[in-house]
Amino acid sequence: MNALPADYHMHTPLCKHAEGAPVAYARQALELGLPEIGFSDHSPLPRYHDDWRMLNEEFPRYVSWVEEARQQVPELPIRLGLEVDYFVNGLDWIAELGGRAPWDYLIGSVHYLGDWAMDDPSQVHRFRGRPVEEIWERYWLLFGQAARTGLFDIMAHPDLVKKFGHRPVGDLRRYYEPAIQAVVDAGVAIEINTAGLFKEVAEMYPAREFLEMASLAQVPLVISSDAHAPEHVGREFAAAADLARDCGFSRLCRFHERKRRQVPF
Ligand SMILES: [Zn+2]
Ligand SMILES: [Zn+2]
Repeated sequence: MNALPADYHMHTPLCKHAEGAPVAYARQALELGLPEIGFSDHSPLPRYHDDWRMLNEEFPRYVSWVEEARQQVPELPIRLGLEVDYFVNGLDWIAELGGRAPWDYLIGSVHYLGDWAMDDPSQVHRFRGRPVEEIWERYWLLFGQAARTGLFDIMAHPDLVKKFGHRPVGDLRRYYEPAIQAVVDAGVAIEINTAGLFKEVAEMYPAREFLEMASLAQVPLVISSDAHAPEHVGREFAAAADLARDCGFSRLCRFHERKRRQVPF
């Protein structure tokens, strides 16, 4: 079995830091021979407090853009998803988003530690002046909480907190273990996200040790590019698939109407 992975994590210009119409992403995927793709742009928030997501009033346009890509590239199955930020007090909002469209999947993300958009380069100074262990503890606590809400199908970029290279010393499995327990308990999938290769940390999310533990725990897996431009689609998928196999995975997930199935790869 050598089926290429589906790419379920791709953005649109509605989030204001991506370029290219969905149809261009779809054409790129077709050219690469990906079997299936899905869009998962940054969700709206009830109060608009950053500038890297679609506005609430743009939401219908997002859904219609994906529909347009489906019509223009009918050879390729195109799924409708959303990358949703987890907030401790945001569960009603997330549940409401979950009912807004015929989703194929929802991706849950921890970008925010309280009011700190921890992966935003303009806020990287906030890593200074506090122990990195404290930041990691906070991050992983939120990651586990997000998984356990049961509102998401896939947890995004599991160790995103390493994006700028801030990592505690020593064996990091102490942080991974409760996070993996949370995804197991919630029955949610995780992604290998290749975009990390192109950030300061210069490696995929999550770390190999995380993947080895997740594989042992039989956590369902997808491989994602987190494309913010058509040329990012499927980027480094061969390397990601090798890593997944190395860590013991033999199947990847496909999603349709929020139902998951596993296919060999
Ligand atoms: Zn983004
Ligand atoms: Zn993200």
